[in-house]
Amino acid sequence: MYCKNCGTENPDKALFCKECGAKLNEEDTVKYATASNLPASSKKKTMDTTPISMWGYFGYEILFSIPIVGFVLLLVFSFGGTNNMNLRNFARSYFCFTIIVVVLFVLLLGSLGLSSSGLY
Ligand SMILES: [Zn+2]
Repeated sequence: MYCKNCGTENPDKALFCKECGAKLNEEDTVKYATASNLPASSKKKTMDTTPISMWGYFGYEILFSIPIVGFVLLLVFSFGGTNNMNLRNFARSYFCFTIIVVVLFVLLLGSLGLSSSGLY
């Protein structure tokens, strides 16, 4: 990289210019500064991490398995309807699981329909 002060070429990892002693990697230091500030600022935004009890998960599982109503709740919890990270993650994983089951179900029905239509 080149020194911004005098234009001398310096090794990329050099912190200071070998010619004039000016500080190099200005952008990197700024990046590190913002990166070190990030955890502090993001801590304010971090979600509620209160653990959900075993019965809590059990209850939500039953809730999510209710047709239509459960699916709506699942969508709400998955996309910001809750401030609890554990609940959101659980809702998202359940959402993925639901999609896989639905896709498999549709595929199964499709293959059954094909085979039956082939027979008759
Ligand atoms: Zn220089």
